[in-house]
Amino acid sequence: MLLSRRLLAFNKCQTKCFIRLHSSEQIDYLTSVLANGVRDWSLVQENILKKYGNYNDKNIDSMMLKVMVRNKEFDAAMTFADFLKNNNRDISLGATNGLLNLYFHYGMEHELSNVQKQFILDTYDKLHKKYKILDYSTAENLLHALCVIHEWKKCIKLLEDISVSGTPTHSAYSTLIGTLFKINKKAEAMKMITKSVNDRRPLLDYAYEEWIKYINRKYKDKKTVFKYLNEISTHISNSCIPITNVTANRIKEAYIQVECEANITSIHRKTGECTTCHQTLDCLKLTEDEFTQLQNNVKDKLIVGSDLFLKSSPGELQRFSKFVEKTAPYDIVLDALNISFLANKNIKDRLYVLGHVVNYFAQKDMKILLLGRKHMLKWNRSGLEYLMAKSLTFFTDDLSQDDPYFITAAILSGSHTDIVSRDLLRGHRFVLKDENLRKIFQRWQWQHQWKVFMSKRGPSVQSPLPFTPCAQFNNGVWHIPYESENSCNEGKVNDGVPDCATWLCLRQKT
Ligand SMILES: [Zn+2]
Repeated sequence: MLLSRRLLAFNKCQTKCFIRLHSSEQIDYLTSVLANGVRDWSLVQENILKKYGNYNDKNIDSMMLKVMVRNKEFDAAMTFADFLKNNNRDISLGATNGLLNLYFHYGMEHELSNVQKQFILDTYDKLHKKYKILDYSTAENLLHALCVIHEWKKCIKLLEDISVSGTPTHSAYSTLIGTLFKINKKAEAMKMITKSVNDRRPLLDYAYEEWIKYINRKYKDKKTVFKYLNEISTHISNSCIPITNVTANRIKEAYIQVECEANITSIHRKTGECTTCHQTLDCLKLTEDEFTQLQNNVKDKLIVGSDLFLKSSPGELQRFSKFVEKTAPYDIVLDALNISFLANKNIKDRLYVLGHVVNYFAQKDMKILLLGRKHMLKWNRSGLEYLMAKSLTFFTDDLSQDDPYFITAAILSGSHTDIVSRDLLRGHRFVLKDENLRKIFQRWQWQHQWKVFMSKRGPSVQSPLPFTPCAQFNNGVWHIPYESENSCNEGKVNDGVPDCATWLCLRQKT
């Protein structure tokens, strides 16, 4: 049985490899055609279809456009576009999408011809006549193409259409915002920024780039430029999301232009001090009201069937609620399984890591709640008894998710309670859609989460950050975190502790 399964897997792999080989043959041929300057598209298509692979007569137009745009072969793509349009053939929806995508990418760097502009407008009309509602990707492609010809009202309409069935992409929002700045429609751009933030689509580089250009175009007086650059920094601070390395450099240059000291700096992790200006960053602690909001939200979610406790049984939730009622408050709540995973699969090692962490807090005389899974009860008895002697313990069903339990226990326990987990907690999933609560939760997490990592000397416990890792303005100085060059988190919400090494320090020269 096992052998035949393996054979089957082997055969599957062989088939996959076979297809990959031949589909790359088609692309290889197309690439060589592009390099050699061959532009007889009928012949090229005929030859491609003779080769084995994923291209067929239905998808060949759109696939070819995709390859040409990806390789930035714009001259070839333009002649191919003309070939499609002049050949009296029915342009498929896929090819239409390919053409819109081509005009967007080309149009971001070059001026489109009147014919090309008209094609985009005609497509907008045609598609709307043909389909009541455009599919997500067609609407996205159309929106991007309309941006390059500055048809912003149609773009806003499309964005609303997309929002009915899903959330527009980061690129859709940012391309539109950038376009609005480009054509000096600041009020509309600011409205769109608010929408994009509410939709959890932080700005991409293009939007920031056009925002900065707009300010430099519109104002000449350095003090006024400085004032409006601060509007960008305030936006970054409010959204609490690090910018990219590219945008950080643009902001730095913009501040230098208005005679500010602009430096790349780092923040000392243990003290929160900037290594350039030696100011200490603030820790924006939750107010009592904010914590109550968070706690009430958690209480509301303690319902069977809520998406937070989806996999929990009614009995377990009841048992958990009663347990917390009886034993809270705690000083610290441990996500036991998650912490134990710091060790390899060996149960003894896992228990050692947990023992080390429990000891660390027990020595500080802290009241500990250790939250684990029921299967952990099968671990070495004496190791478990050691943990149980030093902490309160609660074990959930193996199917339940850990996150909601240990976060819920900590928040119900009170505003002083900390947590320990190696995870980033995916805060957005926990508090779901309310933007304000999400931010409160994020700050709560930064303020209360201890982490455990493996150092040369064994498991090591790290305290929460003494400062809030968001852009801050204190005593006339901006400190703005950004992602290092090799980071791949562009545009994503920063759930964890950001790199303390990549910050901007911006201050007016005195
Ligand atoms: Zn500084």
